[in-house]
This record gives sequence, C-alpha cells and structure tokens, in this order.
Amino acid sequence: MNLTAQDPGQALITITQRPAAVFVEGQGSWLVDERGRRYLDLVQGWAVNSLGHSPAVVAQALAAQAQRLVNPGPAFHNRPMLALAERLAGLGCFSRVFLASSGAEANEGAVKLARRWGQKMRGGAHEIIGFEGGFHGRTLAMMAASGKPGWDTRYPPMPTGFAKARFNDLRSVEAAITPATVAVMIELVQGEAGVNIADPGFVRELRALTQARGLLLIVDEVQTGIGRCGVAFAHGLYGIEPDVMTLAKGLGGGVPLAALLCQERLNCFEPGDQGGTYCGNPLMAAVGLAVVNEVCREDFLAQVRARARQLSVGLQALVQAHGLVAERGAGLLRALVLPTARADAVVGAARDLQPHGLLLNAPRPNLLRLMPALNISEDEVALALHLLDHALREATE
Ligand SMILES: *Cc1c(COP(=O)(O)O)cnc(C)c1O
Repeated sequence: MNLTAQDPGQALITITQRPAAVFVEGQGSWLVDERGRRYLDLVQGWAVNSLGHSPAVVAQALAAQAQRLVNPGPAFHNRPMLALAERLAGLGCFSRVFLASSGAEANEGAVKLARRWGQKMRGGAHEIIGFEGGFHGRTLAMMAASGKPGWDTRYPPMPTGFAKARFNDLRSVEAAITPATVAVMIELVQGEAGVNIADPGFVRELRALTQARGLLLIVDEVQTGIGRCGVAFAHGLYGIEPDVMTLAKGLGGGVPLAALLCQERLNCFEPGDQGGTYCGNPLMAAVGLAVVNEVCREDFLAQVRARARQLSVGLQALVQAHGLVAERGAGLLRALVLPTARADAVVGAARDLQPHGLLLNAPRPNLLRLMPALNISEDEVALALHLLDHALREATE
C-alpha cells in the first residue's frame, strides 16, 4: 500500500482513514485494486458478502429483477417481497417479517415493535435492556442502545429508554429490570466488541427469565444470521426461540437488505406505525431470496462448518507458534486475540504482503476479526492462514 499516495477521497466527507487503494473488481474471496494488485479478502464488506464478491446468483437475481420491476412502492405488494418473507418465516420460529435496508433500521424497527407491544399489552413499558459491548448500529437510538464505550453519549441529547447489563451476567440483567422494562436485546455473539460468545447457560436462563417476567427477547443477528455461525441463525446453536430477530449483513450477500422478524402475537403495528420508501423493494428482496436459497441449505451449512473447523484449527496453531492469547468464534465469525495492541500493524502488514495481500479487520487494538465468504474454499483458508502467519511475523519484527 502506497502511503505517500494522495488521498483519492478528496470529495468525501471525512469519516475514517481508508487505505489509498481503490477497489475495482471482486470474485469470490478475491478483491482487485486499480493497480491490479490482488487481495485475499477475509473482511468481505464487513461480513456482508456471504457468497463472496460478485456471486453469480446475486448478479443474476439483480439483472433479472431489474429488467422486470425495480420498485412499485412500499404500499403495494410485490412477489420477491412476499417470497422472501415466506422463506424467512419458514426457516424458524417467526411467522412475520418486515424488510428494510440496514441493520440499524431493522433494529430500530425491533425497538418500535417492542414499544408498541408494551403500549398495548404491558401498560406502557418501553425500556430496552442491552449489554455492555453490544453493537446495534449508528442511528441515534441504536447508538444509545449499543454498549460500545462512549457511544451512548456521543451526540447529545440522546434517545432515552436504554439500560445496560453485563454480558453473560444474568444477575445484572435481573438488576436492570424495572416496571418500565419491555425487552432485552442481545447479540449472541458480540461482533464489534471482539467476537464475544454468549454462554449457553446464560442464554437459556435469559430466555427463561424474560419469559417469566413478561419481557420480549430480541436477538440482533445482523452479523450472526444467515449461515455465518454454521447454522441458519446463531440462536439455533443455543436451542432457544427468541420473540424478535433482526437480520441484515449476510442476508443481502452485499446489497443493502435487512429484516425484522417476530412471532405471530407480536404482529401489533397499526397502519402508519412503520415503513420506509425502500422497505420490501423487489430488487433487493430478489437478491435476498437468492442468497437464502443458496446459504440456508444443509449441504452448504455443513461446508461452512467444515471451513470453520479448518480455520479454527489453523488459528490455534498460530496461537501456539506466535505466543498469542487465544482464538475463538462461532462458525466463520472468528477472532484472534493478540498479547499486545498491534492488531492494526498486523492488518497493515497483511495488506502489504507480496505477491498478494490479505485483508483483515481489527475491531479492537489487540484483536483481529476474520469473516471470510461462507463459500471460501479449503485452499483459500490454507492460503489465508499462511499469509496471516507471515503478517504476524512481520508485525512483530
Ligand atoms: C453491523 C451491525 C449492525 C448495524 O448494521 P448496519 O447495516 O450497518 O446498520 C447492527 N447490529 C450488529 C450486530 C451488527 O454487526
């Protein structure tokens, strides 16, 4: 990466520091920049490209639907919207689906639904208990709902009604419950916080507690859903049935698509309560249907689990070889914990490797997150581990 190159983003509002490369092409697990340099991509648009870059099923669904009907408007039915809703409802314990365009928007919808239900059924209960380290998106309300340090105060005045409990600590949840509490909202694997996995016992007790206290359990599966953890939904790993679930990232295979799902008894919005110009548009819904049909098949999910095992074993070997702290994860959402705050240095070294780079993500100063395409091949996982080994060596020298 040429750090002396002029920043190509002169016309962009500055939100983050990006590497100078401009990406022009992608196929499967590979990304190519303008200078023809190739990168093995374990970021995949932040875990959105469930089938890798430019998968044929997405290109075909987009092209076919674009020629047929792009958007009749959210107040009319269209076939892809109906088909995707039915497909998602058929996958689990939910019977109703609302389609949206981003994870934050789906989560906002979940909060609105819980508050609406609280108004109707629970005497106006409206507070949502979230978790320290939790991440639910970047709208004002979702920043308030998130447990990322400093986030719930960054743009005051912030929306209120969001309490926080400690992850994997049932007593802290109990302590946060008030008569105004209506729901608990949780990521079963905290992605942004560093791939923190909820304990099975905690999750089962949380389900029992919320049931006993008449609270809704909302699972934010924006990052963990649609095969990422080796099963259709991460809550399947825990054997629980949540009341509400949100999906985004992997659902669209790279395009902006999200979903809010709920059980039948929670289908309580009044006309006008919820909506959005792009919600349920057939172009994105057609892509979502193609992605779900590909990913949520038992043979595909078995492959995800096989690659996850391979990656996990390889990462454990790197932990031994480089004296790292640990590797952990669920399915193909994995993390490597470093002994020092040099994750950014490893990300940079990996990107600059010859003859091709490796793209990694560092959500914490001492932690690398790996979220490859769900259809990454055995050879590509082996190559990624080889490149990571080199990058770790370079970043410590
Ligand atoms: C990425 C993410 C979000 C936000 O999704 P956007 O599409 O960026 O709005 C919400 N929750 C979780 C768990 C996420 O990983």
